[in-house]
Amino acid sequence: MKLIFLGPPGAGKGTLAVRAVDILKVQQISTGSIFRAAIAEETPLGLKVKSIIDAGKLVDDETTIALVKERLAKDDVKNGYILDGFPRTIPQAEALATFSTVEKVINFDIPDEGVLERLGGRQVCRKCGFNFHAIFNKPSKEGNCDHCGGEVYIRDDDKPEAVQKRLEVYRAQTAPLIDFYRAKGLLIDIDARPMVDEIVVNFKKALGI
Ligand code: AMP
Repeated sequence: MKLIFLGPPGAGKGTLAVRAVDILKVQQISTGSIFRAAIAEETPLGLKVKSIIDAGKLVDDETTIALVKERLAKDDVKNGYILDGFPRTIPQAEALATFSTVEKVINFDIPDEGVLERLGGRQVCRKCGFNFHAIFNKPSKEGNCDHCGGEVYIRDDDKPEAVQKRLEVYRAQTAPLIDFYRAKGLLIDIDARPMVDEIVVNFKKALGI
């Protein structure tokens, strides 16, 4: 199955994606994680995008589209994928349609207060990208990932100034994708407020699996 996970930062796209990958046996492709890995490795891409990401702005469409196009050309996504964090603009969605056929778009519906609460406590594993939360989902051993033992840290772009900017960017550039995909009959709305187990149940029901 070829899916897009659409929603504001902190809506829980990455958290559900980890569960959905297991259920659907497909790859999760998170453009944010690819950029963060490039930053950590100080590759030319990482050096180019670091200040943009830290400020909560979007990487340019040309760079992002090229990255996803290359990733979707690989064999391991022939039978399906979950795009987590892509597309984020109308031009990205239009470009995607030229090189892949998406089956469904899951729209994570959550009010701003929910986003602020989640991002305020979010902690991420530097190695496997798993998301924890300082209150709702703490790692068993502080600072260490339960799944791979990697270092758990707070993303620079989860700091309050960057979070506000990311929400603004989401509303201006990404939210129009809701109508774009609804008009194509691909959109499924999911209430992103409950805990992840309940969202998994609703997600499966919505896909009829
Ligand atoms: P995420 O992990 O999805 O929250 O992404 C973190 C950051 O990476 C975003 O705030 C953007 O700066 C950048 N980014 C991720 N995906 C995209 C995209 N599709 N287009 C442009 N920038 C992106």
